[in-house]
Amino acid sequence: MAAKTSRARASSKSKPPALKAAVRPTREEAEEAVRTLLRWAGDNPKREGLLGTPGRVVRAYEEFFAGYQIDPVEQLQRTFEETDGYDEMVVLKDIRFESHCEHHLVAIIGHVHIAYLPNKRVVGISKLARLVEVYAKRLQIQEKMTAQIANTLSQVLKPRGVAVVVEAAHQCMTTRGIHKPGVSMITSHMLGAFRNNPSTRREFLAHIGPTDPGSFV
Ligand SMILES: [Zn+2]
Repeated sequence: MAAKTSRARASSKSKPPALKAAVRPTREEAEEAVRTLLRWAGDNPKREGLLGTPGRVVRAYEEFFAGYQIDPVEQLQRTFEETDGYDEMVVLKDIRFESHCEHHLVAIIGHVHIAYLPNKRVVGISKLARLVEVYAKRLQIQEKMTAQIANTLSQVLKPRGVAVVVEAAHQCMTTRGIHKPGVSMITSHMLGAFRNNPSTRREFLAHIGPTDPGSFV
């Protein structure tokens, strides 16, 4: 698995640039936009079965995109230094995530595997899972999400290396367009020892094992 570079960098700023640039509409405006899309689909937003739909969709969006309200750096801040000299690889594998592609607003579902080589500091494992969630609950492309997770972990923990592998199925490929179910995409972002040392990288890849595209859906 080749190391990848990305222009995406983790930021310690509390809000992503997209939110700063855009004025958030009111809930009523958002619900009206859903009614427009319902009409675009060919249905009547005033029929009984659809009356509550705009409200539900807008609430679902609050859940799908909750990651915009959370600073990923801040939520990783609590680290532990009493590790009794533990300096071997820490691996968290098969962290399930649900995200949405920024091109079609449909689901991306998959797993993330994270590893790092501590440099005195470690972080609680629930924080690693939470880090994945913060970036997944935004509009994404998989390559960017992979780099964001790795770069943020590197920035906060300052470890000797970070590895992130993401395997996911993209519903914009399976339910529309070229309709190719069963296809999964794998991206990786390796930093420090995982990038420079083949045996470190091999050890990590042995830990996460072979990929299983069928497990995503
Ligand atoms: Zn897409």
